[in-house]
Amino acid sequence: MPENVVIIGSGPAGWSAAIYAARANLTPLLFEGTVKPEMIPLGQLAYTTEVENFAGFPAGNIRAFVESAVDKSRHWNLPPVPKGHERDGVPHYAVQGVELMELMKQQALNFGTRVIGDDVIDVDFSSRPLQVVTAANGIVSTQAVIVATGARANYLGLESEEKYKNKGVSACAVCDGALPMYRAQPLAVIGGGDSAVEEASYLANLQNAATIYLVHRRDKLRASQIMQERALNHPKIELVWNSGVEEVLGDGNRVTGLRLKSTVDGSLRELKVGGMFVAIGHTPNTSFLGGKLDMNEKGYLRWTLPFRTNTSVPGVFAAGDVADDYYRQAITSAGTGCMAALDAERYLAEMH
Ligand SMILES: Cc1cc2nc3c(=O)[nH]c(=O)nc-3n(C[C@H](O)[C@H](O)[C@H](O)COP(=O)(O)OP(=O)(O)OC[C@H]3O[C@@H](n4cnc5c(N)ncnc54)[C@H](O)[C@@H]3O)c2cc1C
Repeated sequence: MPENVVIIGSGPAGWSAAIYAARANLTPLLFEGTVKPEMIPLGQLAYTTEVENFAGFPAGNIRAFVESAVDKSRHWNLPPVPKGHERDGVPHYAVQGVELMELMKQQALNFGTRVIGDDVIDVDFSSRPLQVVTAANGIVSTQAVIVATGARANYLGLESEEKYKNKGVSACAVCDGALPMYRAQPLAVIGGGDSAVEEASYLANLQNAATIYLVHRRDKLRASQIMQERALNHPKIELVWNSGVEEVLGDGNRVTGLRLKSTVDGSLRELKVGGMFVAIGHTPNTSFLGGKLDMNEKGYLRWTLPFRTNTSVPGVFAAGDVADDYYRQAITSAGTGCMAALDAERYLAEMH
């Protein structure tokens, strides 16, 4: 018997889809992905510390709640409670990425989602039932598929950048820019496209923003005209032209500056900043689909109906960052995960 619905991906989109599909008695099967550079079980939020903008999770004694909700067998995966956040002797902090994802996973498990830690490496959508090919569990037949494989931020690839991730290096200003570690600090945004300018503008408009350096390898921005004007005219944004990042500097605990190299004459200079936001694009995790679903020019899956998660193949739905190169937030991914499950449920109901 084919599965009702296979969900590929274990980020906010995948778990939300699973919660809705499981509660609709579709007994979904979810493939989590294994650890590879392009994927990580529990999705991108597993890379981050506190998540301050997921509605419903104000700072508080989060750990007590997480430990009461998440099965004891997975407590080993919970990160340490952040230090220095106590109120009246009790931990008081915003939910950490892994905690939030473990809660979502638990919620999906509670309603009967079956979870397999495996990668989907190919698909065959040419006949019915649909087929997904896994790395370790063979071929799975299914009537519907929800692709929720996310996207990954592109980084510069420096060792020092890796060392200071979560200690002053980020790839998401909207996610991290308001965190205490960046407040009122001079910051650098790396890149020259629309998203780099957007990230720089976002940071420059935060309360108490200091100088935001927009560091670009060329002598003009690639961003659209209107975005360029926004950057060039903003009193807090300073353009640093013809410069690439040679090294992220720090004291071991956090970023203190950048060593920049001129792309014109190779000269080096230091820029004092308290954080670096890399804004050189994202890569959607769609290569395993082998072009069997319509994608846009950047490789993101295309939704084929307005306000629906349908893809170019009937019965295949897409949710989260894999189909969204614009919002790229946990809450929007969770929202479209819900939509994909409802769309799949209606599709299955119409089939029978
Ligand atoms: C450092 C960082 C901090 C962030 N902070 C915030 C924040 O504070 N607030 C916020 O709203 N957003 C934040 N974001 C963005 C947020 O994490 C993403 O928007 C969100 O995780 C996207 O969810 P998703 O479910 O679409 O995909 P993802 O979270 O990317 O999850 C995709 C999943 O698919 C799996 N997968 C991929 N390919 C395969 C395959 N072939 N087979 C099986 N599984 C596969 C991966 O293992 C992964 O589990 C942050 C992102 C980063 C990188």
